[in-house]
Amino acid sequence: MKPVIILMNGAIRLDDHPALARARDTGAPVIPVFILDDASAGAWRLGGARRWWLLKSLSSLQASLRKAGSGLVLRYGDTIECLKALISAADASAVHMTRSYEPEARKVQDAVHDLCKDLGVSARRFSGNLLLEPEQIRNKTGGIYEVFSPFWRRAQELIDDTAPVSAPVQLRAPENWPVSDDLSKLELEPKPAYWAEPIAAFWTPGEEAARERLNDFLKGAVLGYKDMRDYPATDATSRLSPYLANGEISPRRIWHETMIAIGGDKDIERGGNWFLRELGWREFSSHLLYHFPHIPQRALKSKFTAFPWREGHDEKVAAWQKGMTGFPIIDAGMRQLWQTGWMHNRVRMIVASFLVKDMLWHWRTGEDWFWDTLVDADLANNAASWQWVAGCGADAAPYFRIFNPITQGEKFDSRGAYIREYVPELAELPDEYIHKPFEAPAGVLKMAGIKLGETYPKPILDRKAARERALAALATTRQDS
Ligand code: FAD
Repeated sequence: MKPVIILMNGAIRLDDHPALARARDTGAPVIPVFILDDASAGAWRLGGARRWWLLKSLSSLQASLRKAGSGLVLRYGDTIECLKALISAADASAVHMTRSYEPEARKVQDAVHDLCKDLGVSARRFSGNLLLEPEQIRNKTGGIYEVFSPFWRRAQELIDDTAPVSAPVQLRAPENWPVSDDLSKLELEPKPAYWAEPIAAFWTPGEEAARERLNDFLKGAVLGYKDMRDYPATDATSRLSPYLANGEISPRRIWHETMIAIGGDKDIERGGNWFLRELGWREFSSHLLYHFPHIPQRALKSKFTAFPWREGHDEKVAAWQKGMTGFPIIDAGMRQLWQTGWMHNRVRMIVASFLVKDMLWHWRTGEDWFWDTLVDADLANNAASWQWVAGCGADAAPYFRIFNPITQGEKFDSRGAYIREYVPELAELPDEYIHKPFEAPAGVLKMAGIKLGETYPKPILDRKAARERALAALATTRQDS
C-alpha cells in the first residue's frame, strides 16, 4: 500500500486525531509531516511565545512518534511546494489534514486540495479541533448565532457523545522516509534565548503534559471553578488554553473526561458544567471567525469602523505593554503576561478595557501584543475577546461599561496577593492602598519603601477624564449609526 501523508499542523498530538486514526485504520504506512509556512500565514505568522511553545511541542511529538515506531518529517517553506515534493518523494496516495477555521489556513488547505486533485492523490480534511463544525449549527431563522447563550444552549443539544479516539500504540512506517529538515531550521528559537527562560520555568508543553493538567484539574480545582475562576491569585482555572491553541489536546477529549468526572457527582457537576461552558466560548469564537473571517482586522459591528481609536505606538502604549501604568492590577497582569506567556482571564478583561477605553487605543494594538506574547495566542479567541471588550464584537460588553481597575482589583484580589506577586515593589503596601498607591499618604508610602515616580510609576492618566473622553467618543459613534 502507498503511504498516507498526515499533515500534523493544527493538531500536534496522537490522541484523538481523526486524520491520523483514519489513515492508520486503512493499514497503509503513514508519514506524519509538519510544515511551518510563515509566508502563507501573512500578518498572523506565529508570535514569539507560540513559536517557543511550538519548538517544544514538536520535539515532544517527535518523541511520541518514535515510541510508536514512526517519525516526523519537518519542512520549512511554502506548504504547496513542500507537499508537492513530499508526495512525489514518498509516492503517497493521500494527504490527511485537521480542518482549520482560520482564514489564511483555510486558503492553504483549499490549495492542498487543488494540488492533490492535480496529482491524482486523495485529500481529506477531518474535524478534530472543535466540538461542532460551523455548518452544524444555525439559529431558528437559519442564520449565524451572534449571541453566546442561545448558541451554547443549541450547541449542547447537538454535541454528540462520540468517544475520542485513543492514541495509536503502533504506526506503520513507510519503507523509505522522505528527508526531514532539522528542527533548528524552523527558526523557532527565541531571540535572545533568555527571553523565554521565565516562560519555560512555568510550562511543560506537549500532549502528555496537557493530559496531566486536565486530570489534575478534574481531580481538584474543578470543584471550585465556578466560584473561584475570577480570582487571579488562585490556581482555579484549567490553564489548558496553550495546549488547546497548539492542538496538543482536543476539545472532545476535554469534554469526554469532564463528563466522566461529572458522572453522578453533584459537587463536580456545578464547576464541570461551567468549565464546559467556557469551552463553549472557544467554540463560539471559532464559529464567528469562520463566518466572519475579517474579525481579526475589522470590527464585527460596522458602526465601530469609524470609531476614533488611536493607532500606532507611543510611550503610554509602551507603559501598558511593560506593566508600568501606575495602576497595580494592570501592571500585574501585563507583567504576568511577559513573565509567563499567559494572563488570567479576569485580568485580560481589565487590561484590555484599560487600553481600548481609558487610553482610547485601538483594540488591534492589544490584539497584536497578545498575539506575540501569549503562549495560548489563538486567532479566533483573541480577536473575538478583544472585540468583546471593545464593544464592537458579537454579544459584546456595551462600550459604556468601562472596567474600573481599582474596584476590579479590590473585588477580585482583595488582599493584593496577585499584585504582590507580579509587582513586588508594592509588596509592603497595606491592603487598603495596594490597588491605589497614588492615594496612599506620604508616610504610608515611605514605610512601604515606595517613591512614586521613582520606584513605581505615577498613574499614566486621569481616569475620570479618560472615562469622559471614552464616553464622548462613543457618542460620535451613536450619531454615525
Ligand atoms: P479555563 O477557565 O480553564 O477555560 C477552559 C478553556 O475554555 C480555555 O482553555 C479556553 O480554551 C476556553 N475559554 C475560556 N474562556 C474563554 C473565553 N473568554 N473566550 C474563548 N475561550 C475561552 N483565549 C485563548 O485561548 N487565546 C487567546 O488568544 C485569548 N485572548 C484573549 C484576549 C482577551 C482580551 C480576553 C479578555 C480573553 C482572551 N482569551 C484568549 C480568553 C481567555 O482569557 C483564555 O482562554 C483563558 O484565560 C485561558 O485560561 P484557562 O485555560 O485556564 O481557561
